[in-house]
Amino acid sequence: MTLPGAPHIAYRGDDLFIEDRRVAELARAHGTPLYAYSRAAMLAALASYQRALAGRDHLICYAMKANSSLAVLQTFAQAGCGFDIVSGGELERVLACGVPASKVVFSGVGKTRAEMRRALEVGVMCFNVESEAELEVLSQVASAAGRIARVSLRVNPDVDAGTHPYISTGLKGNKFGIAHQDALANYQRAAGLPGLHVVGIDCHIGSQITDAGPYLDALDRLLELIETIEAHGIPIHHLDLGGGLGITYTDEAPPSAEALVTSLLARIDARGHGHRRIMFEPGRSLVGNAGVLVSEVLYVKPGEQRNFCIVDAAMNDLMRPAMYQAWMRIVACRRRDDPTMIFDVVGPVCESGDWLGKDRALAVRAGDCVAVLSAGAYSMTMASNYNTRGRAAEVMVSGDRVWLIRDREQPSELFRGEHLLPANAG
Ligand SMILES: *Cc1c(COP(=O)(O)O)cnc(C)c1O
Repeated sequence: MTLPGAPHIAYRGDDLFIEDRRVAELARAHGTPLYAYSRAAMLAALASYQRALAGRDHLICYAMKANSSLAVLQTFAQAGCGFDIVSGGELERVLACGVPASKVVFSGVGKTRAEMRRALEVGVMCFNVESEAELEVLSQVASAAGRIARVSLRVNPDVDAGTHPYISTGLKGNKFGIAHQDALANYQRAAGLPGLHVVGIDCHIGSQITDAGPYLDALDRLLELIETIEAHGIPIHHLDLGGGLGITYTDEAPPSAEALVTSLLARIDARGHGHRRIMFEPGRSLVGNAGVLVSEVLYVKPGEQRNFCIVDAAMNDLMRPAMYQAWMRIVACRRRDDPTMIFDVVGPVCESGDWLGKDRALAVRAGDCVAVLSAGAYSMTMASNYNTRGRAAEVMVSGDRVWLIRDREQPSELFRGEHLLPANAG
């Protein structure tokens, strides 16, 4: 059985390993719930993009909302990556890792003035602007600060929903980006504003895309637009194709990053745009298959209609199943010879929506550990403190080495900053 995450996450005999460490032993040493990551898997995912882009002017900006733990950012920064941020908080995180702001692009539909000021102060490489109103505000903020904001417009290429219905952010009628037909007017507006300097164009058409088709469609529309915009005297230096490449959760078979990027570059070159700086903003595809969420089985609760496997990780640790009905593979950290049973794998949180997987065949007993696979992206970053549960600890594995990269959150930390009413409140 090949697991998503292989070869870095795989069974050796009956034991699940991350690189050269037994997952069950990581759980024993660090407690559960525990996020564990393979550093080699992250670097291999990045290298797939890097191979395709080698020898050209390019920048890969890791979309850090997928997993923003400092050691993850550091891993990518040391490998030459830039970063795509969507908040002032994310900006402070990358700066805390020593990343130069000149490798940071700032995306998002709702940047505040305060976030803009801070990003200008540190000198981010580019703002990916998503509306005309944002252009105006950014220009005012930049002028007031005596700076020039470098901007790219996020264009919504409106790629054909009929052929690619799974795309969620590149279509008319969602909140992201500037409509394709309005792009030229917005570029002209941007070029006329005193606080702005146009440097690029970008798009981001969705997430968990498992086929090159929509990217090629979006690229064609962007190249056309670039030609039109430049014909109106506004030079476009870089072309940023966003993120969105999918990973394997169950049986999806997305192209490799290398194959996808190679086919996009071939189209870019064929249409005479090969001299531009090329950028990507991958998130999920760099980290998703590199992580697991390890959890202990607390109780096995057989029932007339359903059997429950109650584990110590819950929807607050891993929101994707509850929020998107996401299917993530769940396996035993140590395989047993026991007959399997069909379980709903659920957490302790007081919500019926608190499940990690339904109808899963598992052979487990109380005290065993299970691992939710493909949990490196949009997992820890979406964790909450619901039910006053501290967030999980995280470890990074590299070969036979393990580092604790985040302490388990303690109960007292969860209400630090809260205040009782004074005695005279009545
Ligand atoms: C979320 C996001 C990404 C990354 O998306 P993935 O599907 O994780 O690759 C890239 N760019 C922008 C603007 C985003 O919002």
